[in-house]
Amino acid sequence: MEPVKSDRKAALVTGCASGIGAATCAVFAAHGVDLVGVDLDAEAGEHVIAAARDAGVDARFHRGDVSVEADVEAAVELCASAFGRLDMAVNNAGIEGVLQPIAETKAEDFDRVIAVNLRGVFLCMKHELRLMAQGGRGAIVNNASVMGLVGAPQINQYVAAKHGVLGLTKSAAAEYASRPIRINAICPGAVETRLVKAVLAEQPDALKPVIDAIPAQRMAQPEEIAAVILWLCDGAPPYLTGACLPVDGAYVAV
Ligand code: NAD
Repeated sequence: MEPVKSDRKAALVTGCASGIGAATCAVFAAHGVDLVGVDLDAEAGEHVIAAARDAGVDARFHRGDVSVEADVEAAVELCASAFGRLDMAVNNAGIEGVLQPIAETKAEDFDRVIAVNLRGVFLCMKHELRLMAQGGRGAIVNNASVMGLVGAPQINQYVAAKHGVLGLTKSAAAEYASRPIRINAICPGAVETRLVKAVLAEQPDALKPVIDAIPAQRMAQPEEIAAVILWLCDGAPPYLTGACLPVDGAYVAV
């Protein structure tokens, strides 16, 4: 069946069920953007997507694992069949990994974080760019972290994956820079979401040095990150591509 053509822009958001992804879906819906949300958590994901529909846009949920190519391909195919276009993609799904020193890290723990946080971003960009290129324009935002810019003890898998996301972002931006397809990464500092709460539950003091070192002296709210994502996707000037933008209350500035 041919997709129903709409004047509205269309987006794909991974990790839509919670935190920054859920806030991004809400901001996109409020901005009149149709969307496909992808997540492993079907119950919470469907809930977020239903709220987007209530805001007046066409929104679909796709249960999938970003580390599995067939799942990613199917999610992008849903964008194609539902909307016939992909204007914006937010590669946001991520896991925190196991907090432990390198010498005690199990290889399988390392592999899982790399699979979700790095391979997932690669797979998403691979399939998103194919559809986006058909429309000739678009914007991708990869959600990295300040842990893509600096290192920290105990979270080696996460730091390695997020540094990799910035490398992928720069390479992809360079490949597409001559077309109006912009690819940027954001590097949030500590954001008050489930991921941070999970880290704190495992090791209450793990993030204290990070939070103490934030000149803004607070964590960000997910909506503050979502606002930056929306601007990078729909509003930022054409020349802004290949950037790795800290959104961190000046954490890496000092
Ligand atoms: P969150 O746990 O609230 O949300 C992450 C979502 O991703 C969840 O809904 C989860 O089900 C989904 N997900 C996990 N693995 C998946 C997979 N394999 N396939 C599909 N979906 C999957 O986390 P958040 O804090 O909103 O984090 C979102 C992104 O922001 C992550 O990439 C994270 O690394 C990054 N980030 C978070 C912070 C922070 O302080 N919270 C800071 C910097 C960067």
